[in-house]
Amino acid sequence: DGLKPKYKRVLLKLSGEAFGQGSKSGISIDETLNIAQQVKRVVDRGVQLAIVVGGGNILRGAQFSAGGSLINEVTADYMGMLATILNGLALQEAMESLNYQTRLLSAIPMQSVSEPYIRRRAIRHLEKNRVVVLAAGTGNPGVTTDSAAALRAWELGCEVLLKATRVDGVYSDDPERNPHAVRYEKLTYAQVVRDNLRVMDIPAIDRCREAKMPILVFDYKREGSIERAIAGHPIGTWVCD
Ligand code: UDP
Repeated sequence: DGLKPKYKRVLLKLSGEAFGQGSKSGISIDETLNIAQQVKRVVDRGVQLAIVVGGGNILRGAQFSAGGSLINEVTADYMGMLATILNGLALQEAMESLNYQTRLLSAIPMQSVSEPYIRRRAIRHLEKNRVVVLAAGTGNPGVTTDSAAALRAWELGCEVLLKATRVDGVYSDDPERNPHAVRYEKLTYAQVVRDNLRVMDIPAIDRCREAKMPILVFDYKREGSIERAIAGHPIGTWVCD
């Protein structure tokens, strides 16, 4: 049916905004369920899926500590990491409401609500076709969940990093402001860094380059797009060497 997966193990990065409704903050149950339904279709095809969740719908460290805020920037980053746990818990519930076994793993130990992130354990869950939801980023301040996505994709032996966004790839300029902006089909890591293209933050790009981890930037909102991405359809923008 043309949707046969090209990859066996995949890392999906979902920004916090995927859990919010439009630009509103907080968690939308409808949006969360929508994500879960897309994820389900991928798991049904036997793909092993690890999902790194962001927290921007609740709190972003850099914004929260900006402009003489009384919140220290490191504390704000920890707060941001904790925000991702909320999205992770919501996604876990949504997956399980569809009867898909899911494990929430946190990089900051939080025994009462999640398992601690242990690499070999995460791999074991994947082998058993459980959906692995990775929260609390890397567990370290000073980076974002994009870095966590690149790190986990590499250490869990994923073949590709799918970066889900609200635009269908990377453009030469803001497509909403410039009608001549063109979508790139393929970019190299070097181009992304050189032209400062908004794919993921630079440490994440560097990690992917070193690990030779291809990145696909795509619009997760389009029906079945995660499935199509994994089937290797020509959607979004690929970043590789
Ligand atoms: N964060 C962090 N270390 C990490 C991952 C995240 O300090 O390894 C903090 C950081 O403050 C970030 C916030 O958590 O702003 C929420 O994550 P992010 O902004 O990446 O979420 P997204 O933009 O994907 O929704």
